[in-house]
Amino acid sequence: MSTKAQKLKYIEDLVAKCHKCQLYKTATNPVPGQGNPEAKVVFIGEAPGYYEDQQGIPFVGNSGKLLDKLLVKINLSRQDIFIANILKHRPPQNRDPLPQEIRLCTTFLKAQLEIIQPKVIITLGRFAMNYFFPGEYISKVKGQVRKIKWNGLQLTIIPVYHPSAGLRNGAMLQALEQDFQKIGQFLDTL
Ligand code: SF4
Repeated sequence: MSTKAQKLKYIEDLVAKCHKCQLYKTATNPVPGQGNPEAKVVFIGEAPGYYEDQQGIPFVGNSGKLLDKLLVKINLSRQDIFIANILKHRPPQNRDPLPQEIRLCTTFLKAQLEIIQPKVIITLGRFAMNYFFPGEYISKVKGQVRKIKWNGLQLTIIPVYHPSAGLRNGAMLQALEQDFQKIGQFLDTL
């Protein structure tokens, strides 16, 4: 019986070989996701940016530095959590993911979540939020604690703005900080 870590490595290998959409052609490295295979909390972002693409690791650029600061405030570190993106290869010039790319690539994310079996998912930005709540608006649902049944898993999902939005806009940074406080309070109840 393979462990969660071995199963996640298998998904990583599939991502590295994946040619299902065109993004692998312009990317430097795949960014499958990283973190604790036994994590109770999984963070999901949008897609790798420049630094993530260079290093093959999620959230290592400025957004990642902000995310690390927000995590510290709620007593979490990268070692406690797993972080992945909706897309595993960087879209050129960080353009938005296309619906077809999301449809094809999220088979990997779905497999990762089925392996990890987290209790809580924090979606960062609208694309990750829309994966669970299609058609909803991040500005309306951010900070809400929502319980859903998803692929046989009982999940609590808390959508928040993407850290890159917080870097661009002071009001969004404030909202992000407030929503992380809510995340911390919720995790304290578990
Ligand atoms: S972005 Fe996803 S679907 Fe497209 S090639 Fe990369 S791993 Fe495959």
